[in-house]
Amino acid sequence: MDRFLTLLMRALRLRCPVCGRGKLFHHVFTMYERCPVCDYRYEREEGYFSSAMAINIVISEFIVAGFTVPLAANPSIPAWMVLLGGAPFTVLLPLLLYRHSRSTWLSMDIYVHPLQHSSD
Ligand SMILES: [Zn+2]
Repeated sequence: MDRFLTLLMRALRLRCPVCGRGKLFHHVFTMYERCPVCDYRYEREEGYFSSAMAINIVISEFIVAGFTVPLAANPSIPAWMVLLGGAPFTVLLPLLLYRHSRSTWLSMDIYVHPLQHSSD
């Protein structure tokens, strides 16, 4: 559990899951290829972060559904108003969660598949 919390905190702080000191991003949406501190290669293989994108989109859509469905069920609120109010969030939330979905995916991978060698 202690290791899990450490990896979770590193993901929330957008830090390398291996050393906890190296930053993951050098620009808003651009990741370092390797950790600047421990040289851990972030993208393990081609398409490594596609699952992070899927998780990001699913979480974003659940959040949007969480507030639009109750509003849509209310007959006093017009449907067009719910659609106009919720539609921007289907684009904004995946952008806002982009970095943390990647960092969480990296930490989950390190948790499930711990490194065997420091050069990984
Ligand atoms: Zn590192």
